[in-house]
Amino acid sequence: MDERMTLALKQNSLKAMQKIPKSDLHSHGARGGHISYIAEWANVEIEQPPEKFLPKENKSALYSMQEWFKKTIRPHCVGFEGHLKRWEAAFAQAANDTISLMSISFRTAEIFKYFFKITDFIKTIQEYNRIFAPNTLLLPELTYAREDCDIDTELSLLKEIVTHNFFKSVDICGDEHAQPVKCFKKMFSFAKSSGLILKAHVGEFGTADDVMEAVEELELDEVHHGNAASNNPQIMQWLAANQIQLNLCPTSNVMLGLVENYSVHPIKLFYEYGIPVTINTDDLLIFNQTVSQEYLNLYNAKTLNAEELNIIRETGLSAIERYK
Ligand SMILES: [Zn+2]
Repeated sequence: MDERMTLALKQNSLKAMQKIPKSDLHSHGARGGHISYIAEWANVEIEQPPEKFLPKENKSALYSMQEWFKKTIRPHCVGFEGHLKRWEAAFAQAANDTISLMSISFRTAEIFKYFFKITDFIKTIQEYNRIFAPNTLLLPELTYAREDCDIDTELSLLKEIVTHNFFKSVDICGDEHAQPVKCFKKMFSFAKSSGLILKAHVGEFGTADDVMEAVEELELDEVHHGNAASNNPQIMQWLAANQIQLNLCPTSNVMLGLVENYSVHPIKLFYEYGIPVTINTDDLLIFNQTVSQEYLNLYNAKTLNAEELNIIRETGLSAIERYK
């Protein structure tokens, strides 16, 4: 048991919690920085996000979230310079919160919007890692949004991308109902044969069966979210037996209305079933809670105790083993 962790949690000390090595394994790169970092750079005041993003006029909470982001954050980081600043912010945040292992995701659309050559993009990211977060081990992830992923185009791009040995994992994100997971099968088979770790956003707005189907169909190593699995004991047992790691994002879930509050978050249930779970930020630039704050929030809500939270922290850090 890490005494520093117990003390930091008991004293509700964000400062102490920040100094303890942690991982962030579910973070969308260009949304991984802190609001205050962007506000300071742009020299503007940025309003805090609402407590929850509510669905309105037949539109989902996710839609409200995107609207808030477009209106509140994007105008302050426009164009290439603004996009670079958002990536930089993610690394600065990692250093600030002692994130020693970080998996952030990138989309090919954003990479090739700003760079002609993948090698220039890789150089830029490696440079940011070296300058802003030299003690953070980066596990870059390629993520594909279900709603606008043309599989054949992306697969041929992926074949070129893997030759550079930069990305460590692939993921699918976006609207869970936009495209069935089986459409991604050949891409994920190729990714697996290239040594990449396989992940997908699933069971956030979908069902427990969706989680199992995606893991089986795509041979996933990890799931981003997977909350819906908490509705099905058999599927939880199956995830535990297969040691499928769930990269959970409590504040994202609370703010999008998936769970009422931290105290009822299924992380506790997953932990009790023996499923490896990790605590992550998702989109810090929107949900505005750092990894350290996520730990404190779960402790203060009595969702998990200090020992359990420390074991979860260690699970996150030990994820590196999978990449060796
Ligand atoms: Zn996510």
